[in-house]
Amino acid sequence: MTKKICPLDKEQLEELAEQFPTPFHLYDEKAICANARRLKAAFAWNTGFKEYFAVKAAPNPYLMKILQAEGFGADCSSMAELILSDKVGIRDEEIIFTSNDTPEYEYIKAVELGAIINLDDISHIQYLEDCAGLPELVCCRYNPGPLKGGNVIIGHPEEAKYGFTREQLFEGYRILRDKGVKRFGLHTMVASNELEGSYFVETADLLFDLVVEISQELGIHFEFVNIGGGIGIPYKPEDEAVDLEWVGAEIRKSYEAKIAKIGLDPLDIRMECGRMVTGPYGYLVSRVLHKKNTYKQFVGLDACMANLMRPAMYGAYHHITVVGKETQAHDFLCDVTGSLCENNDKFAIDRELPDVEIGDLVIIHDAGAHGHSMGFNYNGKLRSAELLLREDGKVVQIRRAETVEDHFATLDFQGLTTFET
Ligand SMILES: *Cc1c(COP(=O)(O)O)cnc(C)c1O
Repeated sequence: MTKKICPLDKEQLEELAEQFPTPFHLYDEKAICANARRLKAAFAWNTGFKEYFAVKAAPNPYLMKILQAEGFGADCSSMAELILSDKVGIRDEEIIFTSNDTPEYEYIKAVELGAIINLDDISHIQYLEDCAGLPELVCCRYNPGPLKGGNVIIGHPEEAKYGFTREQLFEGYRILRDKGVKRFGLHTMVASNELEGSYFVETADLLFDLVVEISQELGIHFEFVNIGGGIGIPYKPEDEAVDLEWVGAEIRKSYEAKIAKIGLDPLDIRMECGRMVTGPYGYLVSRVLHKKNTYKQFVGLDACMANLMRPAMYGAYHHITVVGKETQAHDFLCDVTGSLCENNDKFAIDRELPDVEIGDLVIIHDAGAHGHSMGFNYNGKLRSAELLLREDGKVVQIRRAETVEDHFATLDFQGLTTFET
């Protein structure tokens, strides 16, 4: 069981809503830092351990700065994410560039910033060399495909667009070695929102075995394995969070048996989690605008899919709290909707809430990752502000809400005056 709480109470949220109109995203700095330290502690046995925060989960420079201070790097996969990292002061090997279907200009930027390049395909060795030159450190992304013996947890990597096959991996490192690359990393990531801790132990095992085989066959030395992101979070109250300490300890056992024992250490463990880093510590705060009773009961919010797309996109569960009514009986069955002209613009379907009233504040939980960042402007809906609850209890705005002017910024209304029809 995971208790769904918010760091601010009704009075504090109402006060905040006076200054910053709903809807807004609120992040809890203290909880983000405590969780970051917990992750580091679970892997403290590995002296080179590093987490590269997957920027796409919450691309806000203030959040990135907080994570940088905790020793996290940045996992980028686009031009904008690279530029954002640079602006925050995260550069060089503090960045891992894990892209796919990559355009030249992104490789050029990544190499210019000194980022670790994580290649998604064997053909990109030549592509990267031609556009930006090969750096001395290169990482390759492995796709385990149909693993022998079958692994129910990993699912179907052979359907995924990412990574090298096993054969391509050996060939790829051979080519890189022959082209003069000196330093090597190995990466994989084949699942997301995984709550089963043993999955990550199996992933590390898989990479350790490969490091041994490839090192022996090619005579190259690996500096790190990157076990990817994908650590899930308990979106539902009945879900259990991943036991990080257990995962760290199990990976250590495997490391000692497979890597240290034959002298391939030190081998740094790297990770690029996004969801588990900020997800549970971000809240979408919204207000009930309307109630509607037709064939079903509907509760309409002032937020919509533009502010949090996961429920509509994946049918994802996000817990909803009606502020101040936490302890009341939850016996009002309803759909919680936004205002888009799309019937999937619903935050919850057939959810049991307390007796909701127009004007009530509601909190949509676990919106701190892949929340605001997945927002979009369909129907001309505007993305909300992002607020940060500092460790000292003060709240600061770390991104203002979009305005209609922002939305129209790419249009030239002046041109209309001379536009002939
Ligand atoms: C999305 C992504 C991540 C982060 O995934 P989470 O589920 O947020 O941990 C990390 N690495 C890559 C390559 C990704 O595409």
